[in-house]
Amino acid sequence: MSSLPEVYGAADLAEGGEVFKKLSPPARLCIFGDPVAQSASPWIQNAALKARGLDLQYVRIRVTATELSDALLNLIPAGFLGASLTMPHKQAALPLMDQVDREARLMGAINTVVIRGDKLHGHNTDGPGFSAAVRESFAVPLSSLRVLILGGSGGAGRAITVQCALEGCPSITVANRNREKGDAISSEIREALGKELHSIPLSGNTLEKALSSSDLIINATPLGMKPGDPSPLPEGLIVPDHLVYDTIYSAGETPLLRQAREAGARCTNGFSMLLHQGVLQNALWFGEPVPVETMRQALEELRR
Ligand code: NAP
Repeated sequence: MSSLPEVYGAADLAEGGEVFKKLSPPARLCIFGDPVAQSASPWIQNAALKARGLDLQYVRIRVTATELSDALLNLIPAGFLGASLTMPHKQAALPLMDQVDREARLMGAINTVVIRGDKLHGHNTDGPGFSAAVRESFAVPLSSLRVLILGGSGGAGRAITVQCALEGCPSITVANRNREKGDAISSEIREALGKELHSIPLSGNTLEKALSSSDLIINATPLGMKPGDPSPLPEGLIVPDHLVYDTIYSAGETPLLRQAREAGARCTNGFSMLLHQGVLQNALWFGEPVPVETMRQALEELRR
């Protein structure tokens, strides 16, 4: 992996963020997270800025949970155009926005801040980024698929579940380890969008039945991120007709993707979702057209 650029701190944003203004080119976009050093976003966003011929840069800023509120407000006098948000800020930032779009509100989280004047606007590109990734990976629209979301109560899982409901997928099932959380999210989305959703446990006969009536299986749990993790699914349940999307984007094959490959099912990891959520962020900041292929190449180079 290439060397990583510097990580700044929330204190650098105070008093007009002179540190960022003095950089060459000046930093006017950033990502907030804790930790944030691992983020791939600077690579893809800086590649896009360069391709657009814009003389500014995108930096990482380590912002802790207690620093979030001030750090968001400090972006404005520091001259920032916007920010990306990663763990642990996606949910906490929502009430701190001046305006939040309907989709992000339903997703209960934001991953993109756009600054217009002195106002903070919140958006969520994880759901639409996932939809674009499915279309690109499997050459079918998400709206045509019966989906089974493993881990629907998490940040990514909820964004994906809402996206599936917004697009009118013919059947949506959420399988969650904590059944109460899965039930709560399903009924919230059902009420908000008038769309039928099923909540089931992440094991047993109900899961087997749901698998047999699903086209697309999505792993939105972290199972597979660490070496030695089990698959979220028992062996032998994936069939060749299934499409399998694992949102994990680390290099290497996750146990779920191994099961899918052995079953002869089409499958992919979360690389395309990572790319497309970034593409959509870039479009929110600068409009279309986005230099997608440049961003894809930057991400591929980073993974090598
Ligand atoms: P999160 O908010 O912590 O959510 C975790 C979800 O997984 C919850 O539904 C949780 O269920 C479930 N879960 C956690 N540990 C589990 C276990 N041991 N067994 C079964 N279920 C378990 O995490 P997140 O931020 O949404 O991230 C989830 C995954 O999405 C990660 O792998 C991350 O890399 C990926 N992601 C990918 C992208 C992308 O662009 N490709 C973007 C965002 C996230 P309970 O309710 O039972 O706790």
